[in-house]
Amino acid sequence: MQGKINERQLKIFGMTYPLVEIALDKIRHNLETMVRWCGDKGIGISPVAKGVCGAEQIACLFTEYSIHSIGDSHIQNIQKMKEAGVPGKFMLLRVPVLHEIEAAVAYSDYCLVSEIRTISALEDAASRMDRVYNIVLMIELGDRREGILPDELDDYLPQILAMKNIHLAGIGANLTCLNGIKPTTEKMGWLSQMSEYVQDRYSLGLELVSGGNSANFQWLRNAEDPGKVNHLRIGEAVLLGTDPIAQAPIEGLQAGAFVLSAEVIESRRKPSLPDGIPTFTAFGDVPEFTDEGEMNRALLAIGLQDVDPLGCAPVDPAIRIVGTTSDHMVVNSTDKLLKVGEVVKFNLTYRAMLRLMISPYVEKVYL
Ligand SMILES: *Cc1c(COP(=O)(O)O)cnc(C)c1O
Repeated sequence: MQGKINERQLKIFGMTYPLVEIALDKIRHNLETMVRWCGDKGIGISPVAKGVCGAEQIACLFTEYSIHSIGDSHIQNIQKMKEAGVPGKFMLLRVPVLHEIEAAVAYSDYCLVSEIRTISALEDAASRMDRVYNIVLMIELGDRREGILPDELDDYLPQILAMKNIHLAGIGANLTCLNGIKPTTEKMGWLSQMSEYVQDRYSLGLELVSGGNSANFQWLRNAEDPGKVNHLRIGEAVLLGTDPIAQAPIEGLQAGAFVLSAEVIESRRKPSLPDGIPTFTAFGDVPEFTDEGEMNRALLAIGLQDVDPLGCAPVDPAIRIVGTTSDHMVVNSTDKLLKVGEVVKFNLTYRAMLRLMISPYVEKVYL
């Protein structure tokens, strides 16, 4: 199904608002382009499905291209994709909790790890299932989220190499997510050097030197020689075509693959200024307001339970979000009064897309 859906089609499919329209052709274009850009530099990629809860339609699209594996941080998503028949390999991106170890070994082909306790548990589970399980040991390069410190490498490696059912498939790093630390040439150089060190000291060639996520885009574009880094895990740039470091669309990719539509349930002119004694809002915030006189205020049937309004940009520049509660969003439609039943559309950032894709109250339509 191509192009915009209309009211009749909505009725036929029994769908309702709010809904997210997902333009698969844009995601396809982004993945194809990213695979090419990375491939030109000897880098393989794992497109990441966690932002869309492992949606089968998108995971299947991923497998049309030459990718290393599909990445996801939830083993439940990986299980769901596998059970839906999505072919290929899967990489678990968040270190599994100890209760997920069996499932991790059963459903995924690789996982990122940083604790010997986890690796031992994976070894036990893999040995019970009579298989060899691949791990990617994460190294902390400065963002201070997951990863061993570089000087722990010589403590970890002999222990890992002694395990019969664990294969050290590679080393990896993750920057930017927690503290916004930039993946620079210098930091990627450290990761390269560590892989060379592992090669020299332990005579171990690593399949994967996994440099990072979408925030590595600028590094990728500027890297004449990516060194030993030969793998990236890419979610946002493929799904939304955006660069988290520039906070902007990437030239050559297509933005706007995800568009939210929400329906107007009330619309009238009301004063912008509340009347009464201000206390806390439903979410315990202390609101601030300015008097803008009377305005066209419309209530949309969507709220914080479904979406993060900070990631929603109304497609119509005349519409502005005034505030959002659990299940209502208030907008100011500056140029005209909206009608009840009318639909307001929003472009989305990653944070907004994520919650919408999780919400069972939001329809998803694949175009
Ligand atoms: C989510 C995640 C990614 C993908 O991040 P994007 O910014 O969406 O590209 C990569 N690696 C890890 C460890 C992640 O958790």
